[in-house]
Amino acid sequence: MLLNITTEHKPATDLGFLLHKHPDKFQSIDLSIGKAHIFYPENSEERTTASLLLDIDPIDMVKGGRNLSGKGFSLGQYVNDRPYVASSFMSVAIAKAFSTAMNGKCSNRPELVNVKMPFQVTISVLPAPRGGETLIRKMFEPLGYKVELEPHVLDEEFMHWGDSKYFTLKLSHTVTLQSLLSHLYVMIPALDNDKHYYVSQNEIEKLLEKGKGWLSNHPEKEQITRRYLFNLNSLSRQALDRLNDHEGSKEFMDNANTKELEKKETLHQQRLSIVLGKLKESGAKKVLDLGCGEGKLIRMLLKEKQFSEISGMDVSYQALMRCKDRLHWDDMAPRQRERINLFQGALTYKDRRLEGFDAAAIVEVIEHLDENRLKSFERVVFESAKPKTVVLTTPNGEYNVLFESMEAGTMRHTDHRFEWSRTEFETWGKRIAKNNNYKVQFFPIGEEDDKVGAPSQMAVFEYGN
Ligand code: SAH
Repeated sequence: MLLNITTEHKPATDLGFLLHKHPDKFQSIDLSIGKAHIFYPENSEERTTASLLLDIDPIDMVKGGRNLSGKGFSLGQYVNDRPYVASSFMSVAIAKAFSTAMNGKCSNRPELVNVKMPFQVTISVLPAPRGGETLIRKMFEPLGYKVELEPHVLDEEFMHWGDSKYFTLKLSHTVTLQSLLSHLYVMIPALDNDKHYYVSQNEIEKLLEKGKGWLSNHPEKEQITRRYLFNLNSLSRQALDRLNDHEGSKEFMDNANTKELEKKETLHQQRLSIVLGKLKESGAKKVLDLGCGEGKLIRMLLKEKQFSEISGMDVSYQALMRCKDRLHWDDMAPRQRERINLFQGALTYKDRRLEGFDAAAIVEVIEHLDENRLKSFERVVFESAKPKTVVLTTPNGEYNVLFESMEAGTMRHTDHRFEWSRTEFETWGKRIAKNNNYKVQFFPIGEEDDKVGAPSQMAVFEYGN
């Protein structure tokens, strides 16, 4: 992962003074997960470029039980994009390599600190979420940057796969170096949204310090703050309160797609209520939420006295952190907290922690598994964990034609591996039931259309006859 900062300021060699790094030396600094190298591929009065190269060691990332590699599948901790993309590691490297410049100091040439210079910045690989191009522009353009983006295709051999979520980003603007570095420090992890370390209160201080003088007036400050703080609501609210000069906390949501989101939210709420109803009906006391995500269902289960033991499992550590945050884990009454057990695990590996439950909910999870892993999933849940009741939901792919904003042939979420028709789901469900001595019933979720059915579908499995 490479960051280039170029200037044609006269004399361009001033950049070396400002960065506090000698242009003739190749320098390296240690990071917790590898090294960062600083060097100057060109240095003349006309044009100087300083480069910061991250050299991340994927093995370092998992040493000592640390899983710093973010989301994903089991091998994901070794095979992931972290070594190659600009992420929060880059921010750590910027802060460490250029701390003097970031603090607005330059002992040899103090007058340079406030000089606005024409800069061009290239970030070789920047990951951005869906709609990334718009988001990147919305973040940088209000600060005066000219933004050029070059998307990268997923695979040149298979052009029809389309673009990946990675871009090369070129920025140009005339600003002070200190501002430039602060903008990059905040925006890079906000775009990546996959923090490699535990996000704590301390992050608010860093955000406010680096965002000083520009973030509070930025039209996207809410989105930037929320993403930088990794969608942890409690932290984002605090930060925004302080950014807004204690004007009071605001509810924040992306404005653009509010309508679609609201629609999806209602469907999801409806889905969770139906699932909750089925779990209650089953008479279960000890329940499992498999692929619990940020724990919406867990919060609903907690309100029902019937459930004495509520366990949530997810493969994503970040999702579990968000789940704890939304539950206000640290401030929870001990008796409530005792009812809950959250743990990380994958649904494709046999796991003794999943045994001994009356019921399990698996809401909108199976479509995230590769189809060739569904056999393992079946063994883990229906053969080994074997709860008496299993309530499982998945999208109904037939309904997608009715989603206006969806392109033909695409899926509702970039991480979905399949979206089954009703027949596909029922065939699969009936086979599972037959193989494992369960009975199964199917239900639609959401408003039903004559031709394509309801947006979501549910199967309720009961063990035995
Ligand atoms: N059930 C939640 C979240 C659904 S999103 C809800 O309805 O709100 C799908 C979730 O499944 C994500 O949190 C994802 O991390 C999790 N997941 C994906 N693959 C998984 C696996 N193999 N094992 C466990 N969880 C998985």
